[in-house]
Amino acid sequence: MIEPARRHVLTAAVLTPFVGAYAAAPAVASPPAVAQWRRLDTAMAGDVLLPGDTAYAGAKQLFAPRYDVLRPLAVVRPATTADVATAVKFARAHDLRVTARAGGHSYTGRSSGNALMVLDLRKLTGIQLAGAGATAVLGAGTTLYNVHAKLVTSGRTITTGTCPTVGTTGLALGGGLGPDDHRHGLTADSVTGATMVLMDGRTVTVSNSQPDLLWALRGGGGQLGIVTQLRMATHAASSRGYLDLAFPGSAAQAVIAAWAAYQPAASAGTWVRAQITRSAAGGVRCQLLGVTDAGMQNRVAQDLIDAVGVTPLSRTVKQLTHLQLVTTLGNGTTTPRRDNDHGSDVLTDVSSTTAAGIVAAMGSSPGTGGGCVVQLSPLGGGIAARTPTGTPFPYRRHIGAVQWVTGLPTGATAADFAAARAWIDAAHAQVSAASVGGYVNYVEPGQPAARYFGANLNRLRSLKTTYDPEGRLLAAVDL
Ligand SMILES: Cc1cc2nc3c(=O)[nH]c(=O)nc-3n(C[C@H](O)[C@H](O)[C@H](O)COP(=O)(O)OP(=O)(O)OC[C@H]3O[C@@H](n4cnc5c(N)ncnc54)[C@H](O)[C@@H]3O)c2cc1C
Repeated sequence: MIEPARRHVLTAAVLTPFVGAYAAAPAVASPPAVAQWRRLDTAMAGDVLLPGDTAYAGAKQLFAPRYDVLRPLAVVRPATTADVATAVKFARAHDLRVTARAGGHSYTGRSSGNALMVLDLRKLTGIQLAGAGATAVLGAGTTLYNVHAKLVTSGRTITTGTCPTVGTTGLALGGGLGPDDHRHGLTADSVTGATMVLMDGRTVTVSNSQPDLLWALRGGGGQLGIVTQLRMATHAASSRGYLDLAFPGSAAQAVIAAWAAYQPAASAGTWVRAQITRSAAGGVRCQLLGVTDAGMQNRVAQDLIDAVGVTPLSRTVKQLTHLQLVTTLGNGTTTPRRDNDHGSDVLTDVSSTTAAGIVAAMGSSPGTGGGCVVQLSPLGGGIAARTPTGTPFPYRRHIGAVQWVTGLPTGATAADFAAARAWIDAAHAQVSAASVGGYVNYVEPGQPAARYFGANLNRLRSLKTTYDPEGRLLAAVDL
């Protein structure tokens, strides 16, 4: 075991401008020589890409272009769980920090970094059903659209978010908010097991018989080891109702109030998200986006319109097959890379003061030349059916999670990043009286871990100390 004096220290001095606050980099006393990396490559079914290799620049990219400046020591691309174990043992032998990369959508660039080993799981793309279709067995590199497209051929699906290119593993490890939450809970709540390589190089099959490891997998943000395969409960992929109601910006407060009032009454099959969008030109538009059980869409749409009390500018209400719903919510089967800045708040309730605060936050532009969006996602139904300590995700008695998003221009400057952050900080302040924390998959820099894990932080910290005492694995949040 590494002596405490050699524990990894995050060094601000080597952080890259603009991303320094996001993607922490460790100091490495003496990185492996090229010949040693090449021996690792030879020992694996997958491969190892080093700076200078043709494929390195593309392989180290994340979803957000701002992180293209990061330079990991190597991008290690395992093809098997045994490869992951070999790579972890190599990292231990050379005292390297490691980060796992699945779909690469980390808001803070934590699935890459300077001076560390990236374990890129994208070669692990297996998608299978087991247990007569009740369980999906998913490679750690699978993305949401691919999982939906494969499982639907057997009439099954999993509980997911809305973005087609997000990694199933990153989403599940951090929670997972999406249209099935009201019936099935978070994506993390459907995780029944995993294959994991621990940071001492051991491979474990996680199930109910390892309650601590299983607990941490369900929303802990990937703290204890490298997941190579997830097992998740499935449900039937059925046709659903879909609604998209657009209202004028002047109705913003009424739309938020209607969304909040609707939540306690929403049936298990109904999920409604409120969204306010401010364009770069300053125009404000409000939306209620909903998914219902098939046949319920017109009734739910009318209930929402009545609750807002304003005639919608447009009203799209229809029934969709499962895959049509996936591509409608995801705007297609893929999402182009782009830079945004993000923040989140978890709200206990939405009083008229809180609704007014959200409207006030959306009343100003972020100063980046781009627009901004606020989304309110419900936390009731299946999410509230679990106990706050049953998984690391503590927010089981709260009305919703707010996501603040600012657009950033191509080639954004330090001033743009600072302006985006200032806007998000001001938005947090507008709802601070009702906010109890944030959502770890919408992680932002400079926030304490308690903001994401609440009273579950102590258990997560204790498990981190047990399973990764050297702090070798970089995860979504530093504990
Ligand atoms: C365009 C876009 C749309 C989004 N939509 C939604 C949504 O609808 N609902 C929602 O809840 N969230 C959404 N998110 C947030 C998303 O859930 C998180 O960014 C999530 O962490 C992404 O997972 P990933 O695998 O794509 O990312 P990665 O960057 O690959 O991983 C994120 C983190 O997960 C951990 N991790 C990943 N793989 C492993 C592994 N194999 N073993 C151990 N740890 C691992 C690591 O800590 C890593 O830093 C969205 C993000 C974006 C950019």
